[in-house]
Amino acid sequence: MTVLEDAREIQPDLVRLRRELHADPEVGLLVPRTRERVLSALDGLDLEVTLGRALTSVTAVVRTRRPDAVAPVLLRADLDALPLTEDTGLDYASRTPGAAHACGHDLHAAMLIGAARLLAARRHRLPGDVILMFQPGEEGHDGARLMLREGLLDAAGDRPAAAYALHAASSAPLGRFGARSGPALAASGTVEVVLRGSGGHGAWPHAARDPIPALGATIGALQTMVTRRFDALEPVLVSVGQVRAGTAPNIIPETAQLAATLRAFSDTAHRRLVAEIERVVHGVAAAHGVQAEITHSQGYPVTVNDPAAAGFVADVCADLFGAERYAAAERPALVSDDIGRVLAEVPGVMVSLGTCPPGLDPRDAAPNHSPRAVFDDSVIADGAALLTELALRTPPKTTEGRPLI
Ligand SMILES: [Zn+2]
Repeated sequence: MTVLEDAREIQPDLVRLRRELHADPEVGLLVPRTRERVLSALDGLDLEVTLGRALTSVTAVVRTRRPDAVAPVLLRADLDALPLTEDTGLDYASRTPGAAHACGHDLHAAMLIGAARLLAARRHRLPGDVILMFQPGEEGHDGARLMLREGLLDAAGDRPAAAYALHAASSAPLGRFGARSGPALAASGTVEVVLRGSGGHGAWPHAARDPIPALGATIGALQTMVTRRFDALEPVLVSVGQVRAGTAPNIIPETAQLAATLRAFSDTAHRRLVAEIERVVHGVAAAHGVQAEITHSQGYPVTVNDPAAAGFVADVCADLFGAERYAAAERPALVSDDIGRVLAEVPGVMVSLGTCPPGLDPRDAAPNHSPRAVFDDSVIADGAALLTELALRTPPKTTEGRPLI
């Protein structure tokens, strides 16, 4: 039987597992019930399993039996849910208010379990060992960094030669695979700004140092800065998502605050963005006679897909499913993912898989992170088959140097 035929045979098991995970989501770095389900699904496959210490991760190695083994391949699935309340009406919807698998990680986990079963049954054919990375804490908790620190890349002995991850997209056409060569997902970060003035009566603003107009001017100046200080062909983004000031209409507050998310496609651009923000914020504050305090926290790095590996994924997709099931993504996406930390160490690819429910126009479908996002799980076997096949074939020679956008 081919990998794909085998994968479709186990599809009902994988769907059952995915729906169990979906109904019982856990958020963050500690997902103990999810880990139990992963471990029991891997039980009996003769894998070398290591558990995370700082997080409830699972690393499982499928050993090849070949004496001439090449360097390992790493396959990754994330396990955590999002802190939001599901509103899909599905019969297997989340039973926990405030937690939902609205980013498809339940599908990723089921696909990697499927790949584990398919690979374990074919270990004699594997060119090298396979490291299976089951990672909690993708959604803003940097679980990948902790797994790297705990020795993920040494799990099989030699360092991996390639790494692959699949990501479900609820508003992309069902069953369509895609990847972008080069920078694919953005680097992210957060800045928080506190403007400190001097409060007073709303009727006597001249006797106060009002931080609110300074905050308004700062928000506008940040957007102008993005368009004037960065090349229009270099994607850089600042979105102010939180503002906070004041307690009553007739009181000028002491402070006004904002928090913004930052996105960029190179570490250089990201560093420059932070420096420009500091310059603008301090300049505007000085003009308004208020003090500014800025805190910056670094999120995830840019996710860069290796061009040779992206071409390899396209070829494998075409072989397995037909060329029409693969579309190279022309543009990078402004979302970010900590797989970027793994791909900074090991050349590889983050592949997307469309899971828009049949009969629905993808343009009308609720996107990932929406409480109404629905991920059609009829393609789980296909995802498992792709991961399996990527590990069964010898990884391509990787591209020299880091490609630019
Ligand atoms: Zn997400």
